[in-house]
Amino acid sequence: MYPDLNGKTAVVTGASVGLGHGIARRFLQEGMSVVVNFHSDKHRGEAQKLADEFNAPGETARVVLVQADISQEDGAPKLRDAALEHFGGIDVWVNNAGIESRHPTHELPLDVWEKTLAVNLTGVFLGSKAALGHFVEQDRKGCIVNLSSVHERIPWPTFAHYAASKGGVKLFSETIALEYAHLGIRVNCIAPGAIETPINAEKFEDPEARAQTERMIPLHRIGTVEQVAAAAVWLASDESSYVTGTSLFVDGGMALYPSFERGDG
Ligand code: NAD
Repeated sequence: MYPDLNGKTAVVTGASVGLGHGIARRFLQEGMSVVVNFHSDKHRGEAQKLADEFNAPGETARVVLVQADISQEDGAPKLRDAALEHFGGIDVWVNNAGIESRHPTHELPLDVWEKTLAVNLTGVFLGSKAALGHFVEQDRKGCIVNLSSVHERIPWPTFAHYAASKGGVKLFSETIALEYAHLGIRVNCIAPGAIETPINAEKFEDPEARAQTERMIPLHRIGTVEQVAAAAVWLASDESSYVTGTSLFVDGGMALYPSFERGDG
């Protein structure tokens, strides 16, 4: 538990399912209030589960659901305004929403490239911009956590658009970490490896594909949402108060060049 988080407020994008949902749940378990962003009506029900679980009847709500497309310019301001209206401010902003798809690069449609960059990179910019504006205006030592990926470092054939977006998130995050450090604002990335969420559920349902991924992980297992949420809550807390501009890899060692494991090469 991180007592300093109790009573603080977070915004989490793409929090209806997967990592965002798990991060929002962990923040709520720490006593925080959370603006839970969901993208489409399809996901409202999953987001609502957090409200049902943590909003106690007769008490001030700690979960506020906000539908918004974070790739659009009005998305992040909607989340910021909801946090101000319901909770009076923001301490932690998590840019989590992301998409991926497989395409050989010579066949990659321009609209898929643009959509991936719009959600994964522009969405992080717009969310960070809204958070930074609020932190600067209110003189808050807030913190931003961006979900990049091991593919901020590891090239990923047929996912060039995804890797490009995540590499962008890394350097964008490092840059704003440097730009706002003098105000006590911290910015970090979480770089997950292969984690069990809806983004890769179909792939991991196939035992052979799952086993193949496990062979690429030195700890030989797929990660859990809770393991990533544990990194997020630490980066959000004062326990990481001297950490900014870094990427915390939560990947079972996937980024350690596992092909060298036996000393070959
Ligand atoms: P997921 O597909 O399970 O969830 C993604 C969430 O983003 C969903 O709630 C979706 O509705 C939301 N979203 C998509 N487009 C949106 C938009 N335009 N506006 C608002 N919300 C939108 O994915 P996940 O596995 O939970 O991944 C979360 C983040 O972590 C992503 O940025 C992903 O790239 C990154 N990541 C995941 C893994 C993994 O193995 N699961 C690995 C590395 C990085």
